[in-house]
Amino acid sequence: MGKLFGTDGVRGVVGESLTPELALRLGRAIGAYFGKGSRVLVGRDVRVGGSMIKSAVIAGLLAEGVKVYDANLIPTPGLQYNVKEGPYDGGVMITASHNPPEYNGIKVIASDGIEVPREDEAIIEEYYFKGTGSSLAWRSYVYDPKVIEEAIDVYVNGILNALSPLPGVKKNHKVVVDCANSVGSLITPRVLRELGAQVRTINCNLDPLFPGREPEPTPDSLQEAAGLVKNVGASFGVGHDGDADRAIVIDDNGNVVWGDRTGAILSAYVAGYWKNLPSRVYTGVSSSIAVEDYLRPRGIEVVWTPVGSVVISRMIKRDGGAISGFEENGGYMHTPHQIVRDGAMKAALLLHLVDELGSLSSILGELPTYYPIKTKIPATREQALCAVDAVKEHYSSLRQVTIDGVKVFGEGFWILVRPSGTEPVVRIMLEAKTREEAERILGEVKSVVKNRCGVGE
Ligand code: MG
Repeated sequence: MGKLFGTDGVRGVVGESLTPELALRLGRAIGAYFGKGSRVLVGRDVRVGGSMIKSAVIAGLLAEGVKVYDANLIPTPGLQYNVKEGPYDGGVMITASHNPPEYNGIKVIASDGIEVPREDEAIIEEYYFKGTGSSLAWRSYVYDPKVIEEAIDVYVNGILNALSPLPGVKKNHKVVVDCANSVGSLITPRVLRELGAQVRTINCNLDPLFPGREPEPTPDSLQEAAGLVKNVGASFGVGHDGDADRAIVIDDNGNVVWGDRTGAILSAYVAGYWKNLPSRVYTGVSSSIAVEDYLRPRGIEVVWTPVGSVVISRMIKRDGGAISGFEENGGYMHTPHQIVRDGAMKAALLLHLVDELGSLSSILGELPTYYPIKTKIPATREQALCAVDAVKEHYSSLRQVTIDGVKVFGEGFWILVRPSGTEPVVRIMLEAKTREEAERILGEVKSVVKNRCGVGE
């Protein structure tokens, strides 16, 4: 059986590996999965080919007798919120998230608003490769897709309602929002203005060519936004990815801050107001142990998860809730709102946090600082697994988490060694108190891996 879905839906270059023919066939497979008569909400971000791919998916869904609802341009978390709250059996989002502009993709949302689990993707794949086998009478095709004009309003109100336990924003804050020229434009400036902020936008015009910056928010791609934060004296800035489920934050000094650090301070803040939530957070093993250093003394347990937001969502749901789930890449899940990443929700919470607690840079200053190194070594899958074993054994006296590669917790340092899910490499991430110490540890890891597995320099 062929495999179609990657770690986050089906992705490809529009017109090359992602064709309307594929989208039509996948639309039928998704339709067969949800079933005749089911109600499915479809949306897209601004990416090239979005309209073409969406139309083909809709044709496939209609061919299987599905009742289609069309939210059109909407952030992924906006579609997810509408699916969860509305009368829908599921959703389909046309997006390639943070990929380069030539990509688009298709992801399938279950009725709870979370992406369907891996085993359900396998069912859809089976329909895709074997055909759906359905034959409907001509009378089955009477439904026209219904355009859902109010989907964005429903989403805005959902975010505002989810803030209700917090005190109102009192001060007059300037906030910079970099929308990456995509669907974040439809939501985040509006939500922050509703909360009383003075919003300065950058790249907030919709443009499928992403002329402003690459769709992934990084310290490099957010330089212009960071400059604007400093120039206008903003309390903070946020930069979204292409479908606005992620928000990378810029502090009041113009420093771009990774999502594990902002996730930690937001979680502690949220825990103070939502006291009925289980006192734990979920974050991928690629997050810094600074998260644990900060949250543990505050009585909050950190549950380490394999890398990937869908895994985090499903684990939180399985375990009966959490304060939050978050990722180093800027994903933050405010569970009282929905158990998926939501960039606009994160920005709204952050506005409340700085209004109540003071400057973002000083709050972030309470987190311990580490010197980070991220690198990779070319390796086959077998060699990558060997590298993981070698590191496990070498650091066997230290605390380890082995759910996705191996994460080693040392005194003042941590190491993560894991096989990549997308490339023939083994990824090494580590942090230590100083640059010298970080480089010494990297040298140690590399020599352990080279001696045992014969890869790397
Ligand atoms: Mg995304």
